[in-house]
Amino acid sequence: MPELPDVMGFERYLQSCALHQKIADADVSDDRILKGISVRSLKRRLKGHALEDLHRRGKFLLGRIDGQGWLVLHFGMTGDLDYYKQRQEEPEYTRLRMDFENGAHLAYQSKRLLGEVGWADDPEEFAADRDLGPDAYELSADADAFRERLSDHRGKLKSTLTNQSVLAGIGNVYSDEILFQARLHPATSLDSLSGRDLENLRRTTGRVLRVCGRHGGNVDELPSHYLLPHRERGAHCPRCDTKLKWTKSGGRSTCHCPKCQSSS
Ligand SMILES: [Zn+2]
Repeated sequence: MPELPDVMGFERYLQSCALHQKIADADVSDDRILKGISVRSLKRRLKGHALEDLHRRGKFLLGRIDGQGWLVLHFGMTGDLDYYKQRQEEPEYTRLRMDFENGAHLAYQSKRLLGEVGWADDPEEFAADRDLGPDAYELSADADAFRERLSDHRGKLKSTLTNQSVLAGIGNVYSDEILFQARLHPATSLDSLSGRDLENLRRTTGRVLRVCGRHGGNVDELPSHYLLPHRERGAHCPRCDTKLKWTKSGGRSTCHCPKCQSSS
């Protein structure tokens, strides 16, 4: 499922191609993708306006439509964006298409309809409605805010990092990378961390999200000492060659190196 670094990739993509272009028309081919807005209302808010600004909140990407509000995009399991010139290039699972006045098109695709297209009057209100914590990357840039936010919570590191109401954007995959890079065991309880551990976790969170975001979530492009290119059954730790260990909690699989991330 796309997590924050993948959404950073979508954000960069839209910035590079779709900003400040007047939308001549919009089409929704399957209204099951819409959440909290009708086809008619969405079309009315898009038509004749332009995408002027982008705002990421964890796994959500919000685009400000001038004078109207914010278009909300969530990418579900298989969501993607595609900007193209010719209508016949339209991707197969396009659910929302915007036609720009310059003749180009933007497709939001979602093969399994697990993503969503919605609307918000204001990003902060939207985050409050969805019980979303601060964007994890933004939060990692502020030492005091990060410490305060995490010290309000108990529980294990893995479940806290992936709890969207604590900090938004980190899921099952990137939490494994962050904990691997920080050399912390996923089952470590948050309240057992020293101030130094917490600061290490903050810096590592910021670095991992930045590096992974630069590659738009493409794990094959990550540095070879990263866990994700090796994160599969039977694989070994890229740092010490110990066999990686898989555990399951809450139906989700966690991967860690039993040597580099010893229990604390
Ligand atoms: Zn190791």
